[in-house]
Amino acid sequence: MISVEKAQKIILDEISSTSPEKVFLSQSLNRTLAEDIRSPLDHPPWDTSAMDGYAIRVSDTASASKEHPVLLNIIEEIPAGKMPLKTLGPGEASKIMTGAPLPKGAEAVVKVEETERDGEAVRIHTPSEHGEFIRLQGEAIRSGDPVLKKGAGIRAAEIAMMASIGKSVVPVFQQPKVAILSTGDELADLDEPRGMNKILNSNGYGLAAQVTEACGIPVTLGIARDSKEDLKEKIAIGLQSDFLLISGGVSMGDYDFVLEVLESLGVTMRLWKVAMKPGKPVAFGTKAGRPVFGLPGNPVSSMVTFEEFVRPALLKATGREKIFRPLLTATLSEKIRKRPGRRQFLRAVVSVKNGEYQVRSTGDQGSAILMSLVKANALMILPEEGEGLNAGEKVQVQILSEIVS
Ligand code: AMP
Ligand code: MG
Repeated sequence: MISVEKAQKIILDEISSTSPEKVFLSQSLNRTLAEDIRSPLDHPPWDTSAMDGYAIRVSDTASASKEHPVLLNIIEEIPAGKMPLKTLGPGEASKIMTGAPLPKGAEAVVKVEETERDGEAVRIHTPSEHGEFIRLQGEAIRSGDPVLKKGAGIRAAEIAMMASIGKSVVPVFQQPKVAILSTGDELADLDEPRGMNKILNSNGYGLAAQVTEACGIPVTLGIARDSKEDLKEKIAIGLQSDFLLISGGVSMGDYDFVLEVLESLGVTMRLWKVAMKPGKPVAFGTKAGRPVFGLPGNPVSSMVTFEEFVRPALLKATGREKIFRPLLTATLSEKIRKRPGRRQFLRAVVSVKNGEYQVRSTGDQGSAILMSLVKANALMILPEEGEGLNAGEKVQVQILSEIVS
C-alpha cells in the first residue's frame, strides 16, 4: 500500500491542463482563467465624488462652521453620468452626486449633511481638506495594472472585476468531460423498476455532482453489470471521455473484474490500494494520457476518494492554481480511537468557539453511511501512525464547506 501523498503525486504527474477557449463573461463562473488579465482602462475613469454633496475650493470654506457658514453660489448640478461643463471660480460650488465626475477647479467635496441649501446658493458648515471625498482617477485600478492571474478560479468578485474593465469575453481552460460508470449487479437506477434485492445507484449521482463542483462536465454512463462483457463494453465508451471514473468492482471480491477489464482494454494501471480509510482499494491508471480512476463502491469511500484524488486532478486539468482544499488545525472535542497503519478521513463538523476552531466527528463512520457526509463540513485527518487522539488535542481538518459558528 502506498501513502495518500504518493498516490496524489502519481496521479497529478499524469495530468496536463486542457486547451484554452473563450466564453462569455456571464458563462464563466467557476471556470479557470487561462491568461493573466490586465486592465485596459483607469477605474474610476476620472476624478469622481465619493459622496452626494457639493464640489468646492478648499480656500473658500477654510473659515466655515455651523455658527458661521460660508455662502457659495451653485453654478451647476452634476448627476452621475453627466460630464461637468463649468469650472469652479472663487465663491462657487457645484452640486454633485456620488460617482459623478468632478468639475475643474474643485479640490474637495462637502457632504450634503454638512450643508444647507438657500435658493441658488448653499451654506457650507465645515471646512474641507484637499482631496476630501474625492476618488482619484485610477485609484481602484490603473490602466495596464494586472488585475487577475492565470489559474485563478472565477468567482462573483472576479466576474464583477472583469465587467468593470469591459472584459465581456473571457479566456478559460476547457472543462474536461468526465465519464462516470457505476458497477454492480445489485444496483438499480432511480428511473428503473427495482426488486427487493436492489440498491439505488447513489454513487452515479454523487460523483456527477462532485464533478460539476470541480469544474468538469459529467457524462453519466449508468450501470454496468458485474460481467466482463458488460464492463468491457461500457468502459470502452467511457475511455472516449477526458476522464473516466468507475465506482465499485475494484476490491478483492469474486466479481470485482474492473481492474482486469481495464488492463485488457489497454489501460496502464499505475496504482492500486492506498493506506487510507475509507477508500483503501482505490485504483488509478491511464490510457493514451487519459486518467482512469477505479473508486471503491461504498458510497462514503467513493466520495472521499473523489475528494482526495479526483478533485485535485480535475482542477489541475482545468488549469487551476490552487487544487487542494484548505487545511486548518482544530481542537478535538472528543476522544477518537483508531488502528495504526492507515490515514483516516473522519467525517466531521468544524465550528468556531471563542475564536478557535473546534472539531467533532459526525458519528457513525461506516463507509456505507452517507449521513456521516451529509452532516459534515470537513474531513478530520488522523495520521497513519498512532491509535487516535484525546479530547483537547490538535488535529488537522480539511474544509469541505462553510464552517458553522
Ligand atoms: P464494491 O466496491 O463493488 O465491492 O461495492 C462495495 C459496496 O458499495 C457494496 O455494498 C455495493 O452495494 C455498494 N455500492 C457499489 N456501487 C454503488 C453505487 N453506485 N451506489 C451505491 N452503492 C454502491
Ligand atoms: Mg460491486
